[in-house]
Parts: sequence; C-alpha cells; structure tokens
Amino acid sequence: MYLLVSSYRHCHYAGQVDERDKRRIGEQIEPGGRPKAPGRLELLQRFINSYNHDLPADWDRLGTADKATAWLRQKRLVAPGHRISEADAASLRELREALRELVIANQKRRPDPAATDAIRMAARAARIEVALDDDGRTALAPARGGVDGAVATLLGILHEAQLSGHWSRMKGCRQCEYAFFDRSKNRSAAWCAMAICGNRTKNRAYYRRHRTAT
Ligand SMILES: [Zn+2]
Repeated sequence: MYLLVSSYRHCHYAGQVDERDKRRIGEQIEPGGRPKAPGRLELLQRFINSYNHDLPADWDRLGTADKATAWLRQKRLVAPGHRISEADAASLRELREALRELVIANQKRRPDPAATDAIRMAARAARIEVALDDDGRTALAPARGGVDGAVATLLGILHEAQLSGHWSRMKGCRQCEYAFFDRSKNRSAAWCAMAICGNRTKNRAYYRRHRTAT
C-alpha cells in the first residue's frame, strides 16, 4: 500500500508528473491506495472517475463517442458490437457530473437540484427489471441494451448501494472531486488522499491567510 501512496504522490498533479501512472488513476490506481468501492459499486465509482477536473480534458474516458464506446464495451455495459453516438456520450458525461454532485453531497450537504433533475431525466429512459438467477437471487438488470441499458445498470447500482448503506461512504474529494470510498470508522474522510489533496487544500488556506495578513 505504501508503494502505491508514494508512486501516486510522485506522479501527481502538483509536481513531477509520471503520465503513465497518472493516466491509470480512476481505473487501476486509487489515490492514496484507498480500497476501491465494494462489489458492483466499483463500476459506478469507475464511471464517475472516468474524468475529474484535475486532469487534462482530452484524458476524459467518455470525451468522445469513440472513447465512450470503448469504455462501455470494456466494462460490458454495452454489447461488443454496439456503438454510441456523440449525443449519447454527451448525455453520459452529464449523468456522470450529476452523480459526482451526489457523492460530493455525501460530504454532508444537499445535492444541487440541477443534478437530481438530470438523474431523474436519465432514469426515465433507463428501464430496469428484476432478474432472477437459478439460485433464486434477484438483481436489478437493464430491460434493454444500448446506452439506455448502460444507464439502467448504473442507476440500479446506485439504488442497491443506497439500500446496502455503502452509498453514504462514496464521497467526492473536496479538492479534486474524485469519487473515493471512505472506509474509515467515523466516515470522516474529506479528501481522496490526505497526502495530496488534503495538503493542497491546507496550503491554499495557508496562502489565503498569509495574503490576508500582509
Ligand atoms: Zn482529491
């Protein structure tokens, strides 16, 4: 775990950039070596972390129809031959930012109504059904394929996580808005990684205080 912390620190936004590592954040690497979200919630975590504002815009994994298609196929959210349009990619990015607002709101505030409206809109097209496996276990499953099915899967996961109680541990970093899973006992984590975003926030506060003082 320490290795991960230090490799992330060296690659991070603030200074020496190891682009190869930095590009793996949100997929293979969790900032600060945090555990990833449990079960299916990890997929929703990956979706939200397909981009954050600390990264160059062209690193957005849903940034174009081609990129979004590749990402959705890789996650098996759409069938292997399925292609999504630029408009679909744009609405996925909109849904992603609305979901990001929900995880930020998990830091003890209400979400912006524009975000909850956007999620309601997405939910209208996303038909979900109750699937049953041979052992009699149920799961929420998309009723259709394509991008609507992908959205249905993601919203089904959101609902499951709220029932299981895991959702309240998904938080948006106060600095970079990365969606991290807070496993701490008192659920008090505010930053994706204290060593990175915690210190950046503190340095900024220090700088502000210093400037006000002089
Ligand atoms: Zn952060």
